[in-house]
Amino acid sequence: MNAFELYERHVNPGLAGLLRFTGLDVVEDHAEGMYVWDTQGKRYLDFLGLYGTLNLGHRHPRVVEAVKRQLDRMPMSVRVMISEPTARLAARLAEITPGDLSMTFFGNSGAEAVEAAFKLARMHTGKPEIVTTEKGFHGKTMGALSLTPKPEYQEPVAPLVPGVKVVPFGDADAVAAAIGPDTAAVIVEPIQGEGGINLPPEGYLRELRRITAERGVLLIFDEVQTGMGRTGRLWASEWEGVAPDLLTSAKALGGGVMPIGAVVGRAELFEPFLENPLVHSSTFGGNPLAAAAALAAIEVTLEEDLPARALAMGERLMQGLRELAARFPELIAEVRGKGLLVGLEFTDADIGAIAISELAARGVLTAFGLNNPKVVRLEPPLIVEEVHIQEALEALEQSLKATLEMLSGVL
Ligand SMILES: *Cc1c(COP(=O)(O)O)cnc(C)c1O
Repeated sequence: MNAFELYERHVNPGLAGLLRFTGLDVVEDHAEGMYVWDTQGKRYLDFLGLYGTLNLGHRHPRVVEAVKRQLDRMPMSVRVMISEPTARLAARLAEITPGDLSMTFFGNSGAEAVEAAFKLARMHTGKPEIVTTEKGFHGKTMGALSLTPKPEYQEPVAPLVPGVKVVPFGDADAVAAAIGPDTAAVIVEPIQGEGGINLPPEGYLRELRRITAERGVLLIFDEVQTGMGRTGRLWASEWEGVAPDLLTSAKALGGGVMPIGAVVGRAELFEPFLENPLVHSSTFGGNPLAAAAALAAIEVTLEEDLPARALAMGERLMQGLRELAARFPELIAEVRGKGLLVGLEFTDADIGAIAISELAARGVLTAFGLNNPKVVRLEPPLIVEEVHIQEALEALEQSLKATLEMLSGVL
């Protein structure tokens, strides 16, 4: 049995079925920069970038080198001693995050970063409630899932963590109305990723900052997907010049080489750790190997000014997409995004699904937003060059033509 069949039998038959439908019933083999190869030797241009993880592309040499060095020295912390890369990374995060965020808790994923933020907010305020947004995505562990209001994920495992209020995204007045005497915090993505690349109205984050400050409620920005330069700034919240009380990061933080999650916050929010240092902990969180990767990833991102690159290349990509949208109005409803966090909204989820498989057949990888199957996400590595954008746009043009042909008579 090949790996695909083994996966289907022993891991997730439903997902294997979905991939088969997309024409990706293949097994990945190796990757470098913008490209992935399957075991048959077919090459794919990666325009998904592991949902905002591969900002530096696959196997960025400086991150790989940093990880190799740490691997040969000490990959795991004994935890009863302090690890240097972990401490240095926390200090670096204090420097590069907005406002006076100065303390970090490390986990291994976005969901763990959100869990920690949730717990810190409750511990600090002594209040139970959190306000979250419709179509928001914050992860799938019980706490994070409680903040991710999607019935398909929540109902099969209910009851969830109580005390969560859901408001429409982009509506600051709704947040103000949802805040009550028991509200600990408001959590929001600066731009919704899985929800379908939804940009809030200008001034939304500033309004949330004003409202939460006024009402004595904490503000959490979930920058797990928007962070590390993806939207054209190191953190998407910088676009509005606003600092939260807690900021979560994961995906691209490990440089696309190691998994790591972090919640960075104001010092007073970490006071519960003074009373009880083990009130929240993780065996692997911020391990030396992951921390070394993140330190290297931050340096590469800043030295190569990848946020600026994301902005320029994002403009170029969206311009090409808009030209295609104008030519295929039966298929594409809207193009939107910021930097290289780009959404292509199809007129129908099934049309999007056909287009994705046509793209995969032409060697370009993309995917749906988990909370919005009409929207195909384009999140290429920030190292993307003009030629790659050309390559993707040409493949998309051919895919749209093929989709249209397939649908002729139906539409
Ligand atoms: C992906 C994502 C998460 C969850 O991260 P995992 O590493 O998959 O647990 C949380 N928040 C946002 C905004 C995300 O995009």
